[in-house]
Amino acid sequence: MPPPVFRFAPSPNGYLHLGHAYSALLNFDLARRTGGRFLLRIEDIDATRCRPEFEAAIYEDLAWLGISWETPVRRQSEHFARYRKAVERLADLGLIYPSFESRAEIARLVAQRDASAPWPRDPDGAPLYPGAAKSLPPDQRRQLIAQGTPYALRLDMAAARARTNQLTWIEHGEGPGGETGAVHAQPEAWGDVILARKETPTSYHLSVVIDDALQGVTDVVRGRDLFWSTSVHLLLQQLLGIPQPVYRHHRLIEDASGHKLSKSTQATALRELRGQGAAPADICSLVGLSGDFCNTTGGC
Ligand code: GLU
Repeated sequence: MPPPVFRFAPSPNGYLHLGHAYSALLNFDLARRTGGRFLLRIEDIDATRCRPEFEAAIYEDLAWLGISWETPVRRQSEHFARYRKAVERLADLGLIYPSFESRAEIARLVAQRDASAPWPRDPDGAPLYPGAAKSLPPDQRRQLIAQGTPYALRLDMAAARARTNQLTWIEHGEGPGGETGAVHAQPEAWGDVILARKETPTSYHLSVVIDDALQGVTDVVRGRDLFWSTSVHLLLQQLLGIPQPVYRHHRLIEDASGHKLSKSTQATALRELRGQGAAPADICSLVGLSGDFCNTTGGC
């Protein structure tokens, strides 16, 4: 049996905080305890928000915590051609269409729909795509693209579902409602998700499943906030014919008022705590792990 492969996949759009430390330590420790491999992946597809100094800080903070990883590190921004190929493959299956509404237009359409009855929201609380771009005639689409109109490439969820079987994943952790074991994916809850944009040929959902497969990741260990995104990931894995890892979604580290930590909150940034004299063992205890990383059972 090849060894299990774990990964920690932060986006360099801010400094790592205690929640990231918890996730990275769990992954690293699981790899160590199972004789597995630990990979670090930089998810930097968003050129407007990701910055080299945040990436440098990721390496520094993780090394300070005592975590080591295989090199070279995969940086998603270096693999756009690979993601573009996957979008083309889905387009060849007739599963992709461009939509041209701006964010403001979408908000206006949703407000109109909401006026008659509450318009459906995805598991993150964002309204499902309300537009009619799916039925635009091909020549109109071509014309809008030729004119340079910004667009998003969306997955036709109904067509994608019609091509796929029942989707179930094995959850070793726990979802927000206590889901564990075999979980039925519900990708339709996300509507026609965006898989790429004019200026960025990929999206979080697409690049994460492609990279997990390319890197041979067997165990995805990440925060519970991404639990229902797994539904979309399973759908894409089946459409693209790539292997499905097992998943372990872990508890989120919250601030004193019970909110999920954010990269914009200085107080819980690892470099801030380090600057105040905290040691790696203090970080472990702040996130509820014993000093010897997570040398504890049932931590997540
Ligand atoms: N890049 C994502 C984040 O920083 C994590 C992706 C994942 O673990 O699937 O939230």
